[in-house]
Amino acid sequence: MVERVYNFSAGPGTLPLEVLQQSAKDIVNFSNTGTGIIEMSHRSKEFMAVTEDAETLLRQTLKIPNNFKILFLQGGASSQFFMIPMNLLGGTKKATYLNTGTWAKKAIKEAKLFGDIDVAYSSEDVLFNNVPSNNQYQVNDYSEYLYFVSNNTIYGTQFAEFPDSEKMLISDMSSDILSRSIDFSKFGLIFAGAQKNMGPAGVTIVIIRDDLLDRTPPNTPTMLSYKTHADKGSMFNTPPCFGIYVVGEVLKWLKEKGGINAVATINRRKANLLYNAIDNSEYYRGHADSASRSLMNITFNLPTPALEEKFIKETSAINLKGLKGHRSIGGCRASIYNAFPEDGVKKLVDFMDTFKSDNPA
Ligand code: PMP
Repeated sequence: MVERVYNFSAGPGTLPLEVLQQSAKDIVNFSNTGTGIIEMSHRSKEFMAVTEDAETLLRQTLKIPNNFKILFLQGGASSQFFMIPMNLLGGTKKATYLNTGTWAKKAIKEAKLFGDIDVAYSSEDVLFNNVPSNNQYQVNDYSEYLYFVSNNTIYGTQFAEFPDSEKMLISDMSSDILSRSIDFSKFGLIFAGAQKNMGPAGVTIVIIRDDLLDRTPPNTPTMLSYKTHADKGSMFNTPPCFGIYVVGEVLKWLKEKGGINAVATINRRKANLLYNAIDNSEYYRGHADSASRSLMNITFNLPTPALEEKFIKETSAINLKGLKGHRSIGGCRASIYNAFPEDGVKKLVDFMDTFKSDNPA
């Protein structure tokens, strides 16, 4: 087998090797049925069990209360940008959003199609290098919900604490779900595309409080109503079968690793290694404000764009792949999701030290 590289890609991101190997087997012959997992009816008892197991494991892993439904949907995380206001913005038709990056901005644009959106905070003028603390914005009294992106994949910022608000919270957790625990009592809905911390692209997980299912206006297209999918256990139509299966396998892997708290500790350790390397040099400069730093995506710059290019080329040559920053901010980005090995972070930190000595500014 070709040597496995350290894959720092922001998403689709690295998955546990064990999960890939098991998936490869199950694609050909799932559980000795003589049928591959991607050629099996979604209504077969075998596949129904796969879905139920994935759902049960997700509920256990994140301690999701029984009054929340778990949905496996298609359309990417981006479809939630409109499904949320379309389904939930009844009543006052007002909601508050925090503009902390590209994905928040896109969600705001879609929400404006359905209601009166108050953007209570924006860090756009400083290239989204921070997320606000509670005293930096006010939530409009008439808002139905407060929407925020818990981890801003592109800019490398993350809410260390979720907003403290009387309003129900709605959050895009695409790039940090399963990396820490969540107090669901504050939330109405959480969603995440699977392709960073949970599985392959193609399945989006929505966790929604069940009383919200009745808010959907009657003229909502059937496929775009949360209730449609909730009532049919995500089997109203053909669900993203392979994605659901892999999410289940990732959840089994996570359980074996000791669950959310165990990976949260490792995640912190991995991120600290990198942030220390940044903080202990003038050469590497972190993009995010210290208080807003993400444990999942670490963004940094070198003294010049030419040095950044050289750094990315040389890291790639030693199998540290995918370190180029997003085109909107440039520089470098190390995405170190749950499945990213600690040894890969150590290798990067060692290389950073060597590169700095070999290439003075
Ligand atoms: N939200 C966040 C935080 C993301 O990082 C991304 C994708 N990188 C998206 C939403 C969009 O996801 P999708 O491509 O599944 O629509």
